[in-house]
Amino acid sequence: MNNTEVVIIGGGLSGLYAAGELQRHNKNYLLFDTKPTLGGRIAGIPSSDNTEQYYDLGPSWVFPHHLRMQELVSKLKLSLYEQFEHGDVLFQFENIKQPRRIDSHPTQNVFRIKGGTFNLVKHMLKELNPKNLYVKHKVTKIEQVNNFYRVHIFDGTQTRAINCLKILFAIPPRIIARDFEGSAWLSPSLQQSLFSSQTWMAAQAKILVTFDKPFWREQTLSGQAFSQQGPMVEVHDASLSDNEGALFGFIGMPAAQRIYEPTKELKQACIRQLGVLFGQQAYKFNKCYLKDWAKDKDICTGQDQSEGSRHPIIKTSLFSKECALQNMFFAGSEFAEEEAGYLEGALIAVEKAVQLLTNNEK
Ligand SMILES: Cc1cc2nc3c(=O)[nH]c(=O)nc-3n(C[C@H](O)[C@H](O)[C@H](O)COP(=O)(O)OP(=O)(O)OC[C@H]3O[C@@H](n4cnc5c(N)ncnc54)[C@H](O)[C@@H]3O)c2cc1C
Repeated sequence: MNNTEVVIIGGGLSGLYAAGELQRHNKNYLLFDTKPTLGGRIAGIPSSDNTEQYYDLGPSWVFPHHLRMQELVSKLKLSLYEQFEHGDVLFQFENIKQPRRIDSHPTQNVFRIKGGTFNLVKHMLKELNPKNLYVKHKVTKIEQVNNFYRVHIFDGTQTRAINCLKILFAIPPRIIARDFEGSAWLSPSLQQSLFSSQTWMAAQAKILVTFDKPFWREQTLSGQAFSQQGPMVEVHDASLSDNEGALFGFIGMPAAQRIYEPTKELKQACIRQLGVLFGQQAYKFNKCYLKDWAKDKDICTGQDQSEGSRHPIIKTSLFSKECALQNMFFAGSEFAEEEAGYLEGALIAVEKAVQLLTNNEK
């Protein structure tokens, strides 16, 4: 591992997109991520038939106005399809035992990536030099030394340091504020700005249940359900094909409470709820996965766990230009001036950061 021009911290969508952009500008870079798998919040479970299809445990939806995402998908020769919403929607009202079935028309008009969102990560990786990408490498300390940075990286066994000229943070603002608190380059006002911005969806938990086929479609049900009883407050069709049925749900219980809830019991309660909603066939599931993002320390902080969900708000204009003069750039999705927290936000934030980074040299 040699010294380099740019160190990218984080290998989620923003880190990988930044790597591609830097490669396009012929920049030398190294990317580090703490996790064993790249993709960050884009986490996927391979389908049972191993056909490079993935169920989503993180983001699933590309919104119609997210044009950069749509362009990226088509550039990578992937395709989008509409979220399955045909059929009735089920509602579980408080104090009413039986779910109500309501005739509904597709309302969300959102898209999913064919093969799952993790397929996007797989395709992005094909375009990057694997020698520049380090998994299971956590950046633990950044020191400003004269006109360069010394970056300390822990690989699970030992800590090594490399030098670079520029740092590109592709991690959420609150993770920077938490993990690099006390660094000389982190002024009290920057620390405060970074800390104030919640990481979008970081405190959510997603459950995914797979079936031989999307049996609810045969009952003209859309797979969509909304519940005031829980544990899931929303359920959606997450099938990959007619032979790879799946439902996913968001758990309504707040993160701070979930910590005390054993995973096994929570999963069982979700299956029982699917049984009430969709009938006996729900009990014939194949696999059940629960990803509690609030327990993921690389993504979620204690502050995120204790707050109600809200969109990130961070006034990057207050510090990004000043930081750019010190060769520090911010590219995580939460730093985007528009669509912050979304997949689209990650692309917007990277484009801005890379523009500042390359402008610095003119
Ligand atoms: C359950 C869920 C559902 C969502 N649904 C949608 C959706 O439908 N549509 C949508 O547009 N968006 C959705 N989102 C948001 C979307 O996932 C994010 O906007 C996007 O993935 C953020 O990418 P990122 O690269 O900025 O950050 P992240 O994906 O958080 O990546 C940050 C990376 O940095 C790494 N890291 C942290 N600290 C260090 C360190 N010190 N050293 C090295 N590496 C470090 C982490 O391991 C992580 O891999 C959802 C998110 C979740 C959790």
